Amino acid sequence: MEKNIPYKTYLEESEMPRQWYNVRADMKNKPAPLLNPQTLKPMTAEELGVVFCDELVKQELNETDPYIDIPDEIRDFYKMYRPSPLVRAYCLEKVLDTPAKIYYKFEGNNTSGSHKLNSAIAQAYYAKKQGLKGVTTETGAGQWGTALSMACAYFGLDCKVFMVKVSYEQKPFRREVMRTYGASVTPSPSETTNVGRKILAEHPGTTGSLGCAISEAVEVAVGSEGYRYVLGSVLNQVLLHQSVIGLESKAAFEKLGVKPDVIIGCAGGGSNLGGLIAPFMGEKLRGEADYRFIAVEPASCPSLTRGRYAYDYCDTGMVCPLQKMYTLGSGFIPSANHAGGLRYHGMSSTLSQLYDDKLMEAVSVEQTKVFEAAQQFARIEGILPAPESSHAIRVAIDEALKCKETGEEKTILFGLTGTGYFDMVAYQKFNDGVMTDYIPTDDDLAKGFAGLPKV
Ligand SMILES: *Cc1c(COP(=O)(O)O)cnc(C)c1O
Repeated sequence: MEKNIPYKTYLEESEMPRQWYNVRADMKNKPAPLLNPQTLKPMTAEELGVVFCDELVKQELNETDPYIDIPDEIRDFYKMYRPSPLVRAYCLEKVLDTPAKIYYKFEGNNTSGSHKLNSAIAQAYYAKKQGLKGVTTETGAGQWGTALSMACAYFGLDCKVFMVKVSYEQKPFRREVMRTYGASVTPSPSETTNVGRKILAEHPGTTGSLGCAISEAVEVAVGSEGYRYVLGSVLNQVLLHQSVIGLESKAAFEKLGVKPDVIIGCAGGGSNLGGLIAPFMGEKLRGEADYRFIAVEPASCPSLTRGRYAYDYCDTGMVCPLQKMYTLGSGFIPSANHAGGLRYHGMSSTLSQLYDDKLMEAVSVEQTKVFEAAQQFARIEGILPAPESSHAIRVAIDEALKCKETGEEKTILFGLTGTGYFDMVAYQKFNDGVMTDYIPTDDDLAKGFAGLPKV
């Protein structure tokens, strides 16, 4: 008999992690270094320091320390919305009629509506500590921009957000949330930067992309005294901060005396998944335990399942360092009907290496199937999930249904990264029955690969 597991397991505030876990320390094959796009030599701390805060550069390059202290100022902020609950999805299990035990770690319980606040507050803290005036960034769907605006408001930093134009126009309320927290929001591409003007001249009427907004944000950071650029995903430092998700999950499972068998997360740039799996992956790397890890990505932006493992540009303007990662090419833009987020062309170098070493699996799912799962989850578990998170829900449900076939009582954990209140245009398409799927052809992908740098 299974012991009585509560619907929600919260840690005490005092049980919240005091250190982040840096999975790279336990990796035999380390992720490849960032390269200077001009010299093709590994980026030095000095070179990175032009773009990023000093302490974050140290974290970016640190592949030896398994644990890094979480400063008290950051923990104090975490305490306003963490520890986040580990939820047993009893109602979903019942409806699926599965012997599987489904848990999710819910990161949507803060105003930004996603896990991104975990890293935003850390990055703002280090910028403040360095005496900077402000930071610049890009945002796509808007969760990262919102999280960063909140973090900057808390520490009294200026925050300049370049928001992908199509989102800026589709999600006016996202923009107002950011402005309420004091950020300035510019639709990208814009006339305010060289790279923005260049992109607009080459592609008049473009609705923008993440890669293009990154280039603009970096240009402004590098050209403004007292500013640095911050990024909400992909980088090692972001995965490090997000390890708080996995550490809390692991501690909560230990309290319950339960061990997950399968851990599932959606993967855009890889930060929530990297953070969720980090301490479990550490055990696997050290040979202490075994788990299955599954990254879920959109079929319309399939960087792990159909990308190349190669050095690539992180942005359209090619101003950022080169990163070795699973990538579709920095020129890749998902088809116009894609609504579910997770649209970055590449994947975190740490997750890319773990995937290449076969320590993690990846699957891609079509968006109509994702929204079916989202709708089912909303109706049964009550939470309106973000489309991004719903990729993980889809595969958690699929795995639970497989258990129904085989009779296996697997324990499944998935990351519920956020809520979907600002994604109603996408939900509306689904509800109206007009959402379609587009899976890029090999020819579509070949165009993106053709733009990979020859390194
Ligand atoms: C940004 C975001 C993601 C994807 O980003 P990762 O860095 O891959 O985690 C997933 N879910 C939500 C709700 C997001 O806001």
